[in-house]
This record gives sequence, structure tokens and C-alpha cells, in this order.
Amino acid sequence: MPGQFSANRERLQRDIDALARFGKSGPTAITRLAFTDEDNAAHRYAEELMRKEGLRTRYDAFGNLIGTRAGSEEGAKPVMTGSHIDGPPDGGIYDGVIGVIAGIEACRALTETGMTTRRPIEVVAVRCEHLDRFGVSCLGSRALGGKLKQDDLDRLKDEDGISLRSALKQCGFQPTELASASLRDRAHAWIELHVEQGRVLEDQGKIIGVVTAIAGPTRYKVHVGGKADHSGATPMSIRRDALMGAAEMILDLERLTQETADCVGTVGVIRAFPGAVHTIPGAVEFYVDIRGVRINDKAHLVDTFCQAMEERARGRDLSLKVETFVDEPPVPCTDWVVAELNAICGDLGANFMVMPSGAGHDTQHVAAVADVGMLFIPSAGGIAHTPEEYTSIEDVAYGTEVLAEALARLAD
Ligand SMILES: [Zn+2]
Repeated sequence: MPGQFSANRERLQRDIDALARFGKSGPTAITRLAFTDEDNAAHRYAEELMRKEGLRTRYDAFGNLIGTRAGSEEGAKPVMTGSHIDGPPDGGIYDGVIGVIAGIEACRALTETGMTTRRPIEVVAVRCEHLDRFGVSCLGSRALGGKLKQDDLDRLKDEDGISLRSALKQCGFQPTELASASLRDRAHAWIELHVEQGRVLEDQGKIIGVVTAIAGPTRYKVHVGGKADHSGATPMSIRRDALMGAAEMILDLERLTQETADCVGTVGVIRAFPGAVHTIPGAVEFYVDIRGVRINDKAHLVDTFCQAMEERARGRDLSLKVETFVDEPPVPCTDWVVAELNAICGDLGANFMVMPSGAGHDTQHVAAVADVGMLFIPSAGGIAHTPEEYTSIEDVAYGTEVLAEALARLAD
């Protein structure tokens, strides 16, 4: 890389391996749910790395770990970088972790060139990005974005009935002070480095993705009602088969999504009732996940798909009920930050491309109160959230060097 900062591959590898010990559930697997002993130990380890690097560390009221590299100008707002270090059950060791380790390594690289920036640089290990414990994703970044409210702390509970508030208290954090975690008016800019979790960079032969927008999901549960009848005694002409109707609807989703640029649609769960080989399904429920980075395109897709489902239901004399349980708008990254990241990649001669993020990230919630950008590095085979998740140390180092350059420029 032609940039002025050089990331140390051995150090990066050592830090990745060290963090992979906490909640280790396989050779390259971790199970590190938020606010568990393993998660707390991983945060303490990250804190130790930050301290060794001379960063001043603190935890906010929600337990987000923040390490500050001092700047030269008193009172200047920091440039922040961060990601999460919790993981799903038997997840991989790169998701999120890379962003935190790269932030710390970027600070080291700056220090090794003797650089002092005007603004402070802050590295954040965000809590609870994964939904596996409390059923809602990005809780730490929702706190940073000022979106999490006091009643959410009581409403959200894990499988054992432990509320988010109790979990925070047990870990020694300050749920009543939640509002103080907001970054409103506190950050000059926020940049998250993350593994792509898709195959676009790999397919295009690129190492860096400058993210333009983060797709927002719309999710609903669909109930289709028909009539359960004997599969042998009921002629095809008089059936009200809920599953055949659902099948038509699901194929409509595929067709409509293919007609809409930059949108994706998935049915990942489907259940037929009563679920017997010799009974025509009398009811079906399935879950739909639609994502897109352009708000109007996504809204259009959602509308046309709902119309298509109604038509299919009418055509087969089926009942239809659609329950929306998530409806989040796509979040654009901030224009000036995207432009700056593009310029930096251009100046460095980096092997990069501009792209949207199909997956959700902490940055989309921080965006509520701060100017944000994201950098992606490749995920081998696009694999994510499994022990096979892998990004080469070369790519991690490459991304870290771009991140270091970005932090240095934005902080000066
Ligand atoms: Zn992640």
C-alpha cells in the first residue's frame, strides 16, 4: 500500500487470535452473547489493548467501550471508529472484531509515524450488535444514536427472563443514565470498518468497499388460510390449499425483486399446518425479509408484493393476513464522509469500489446523530456468521491502512 501508515500483520493476527479465545466454541468459532462473562472478558481484553496503546479508556452507561487517542486541540470533537465484538452462537471470529482491532492498530500505525492529530481519535467496541440474546440487533449503537429508551431496557428480555436493564446492572453499567451514551453533537465523524459478509468484493476482485448506504429491512409474517382436507378424497378442483397459494406468493416475491434494482427478498421460514403427508395444508405461515438501499424502490416492492399476495389469495379463495414486525428505512452514509473516503482511496491508489451494504450494521444507528461512513473488506466466499467466516490477514492489514489514513485526515 502506498499510504504513509503501515499496519503490522503479526500484531493484527495476534489480536484476532487473542480475542477468539473468549467464548471459543470451536477451532474458529465463538459463542459470545452480549453481556455474558465471555463478552465482558473480551471487552476487558480490548480495553487492555487500547491502554497499552496509550488510549484513555472508559465505558459509557450502556457498556460501550471507548478508547481515546488525544488530539492537540482542546475541545475538538473526535473522529470515531468502531464496531462490535459480540457474536452469534458458533459465529466466526472476524465479524465486528476486525473493526475494533483495526481501529486500535490504526492508532498504533499513526503513533509509529509520530503523528499527532488535531482532533482526538476514539476507538469504540460497541455492545450487543447481535440479536441472539435480546431479540433486537444493534442495541449498543442504538444507545449511541440516542434511539434506545428507558422502557426498552425493561421490555427486552433474554430467554431466561433477564431484562436488558438487569443485565446492564449486573455488569456494573448505569441503565438509568442511558441517555448520556448518545453521541449527539459529540462526534466529528464516525467510520466503521467491517467484513463485507457478502461476495461482491471478491467477485469484483476488489479489497475495499466504500459504503454508500445501508439497506433497511422490512419484515413481515404472512398467514395464509385455506381448508385442510383429505389428500386422497378431495379433487384438485375444489381444494383450498394454503401451501400452493403461499408457493405462488413466494415465487412472486422472487420475480418482483428481480425487477427492482438493489433490492433483495427472502423467505427464510415457512410452516404448513397441520403438517401431515396425507392432509392438504389448511394454513401456512411464512416470514418475508425485504431489503433495499433506496427508500422509494423498496416501498414500491413492498406494495406490489402485497398486491400480488392479495391477488393470489383471491384466486384460490384463501384468507390472507400480513403482520409487519420490522420496517426500517435504508440509511445513507453521509455524503461528505463518503466523498472523503473515495478521495482517500483514490489518492492511495487503493483497489476499491463504491457499494451499498445489504446487511445491517451499527453505523446505521450512529447515523441518527453523527456523520458516518463505512469501509468493507472481503469475506472469503461471502460467508458470515459461521466458523468458516474468513478474511485474509493481508486484506485486514490493507483495510487497516486505509482506515488509518482516513482517521488521520478526518482528524486533521
Ligand atoms: Zn457485524
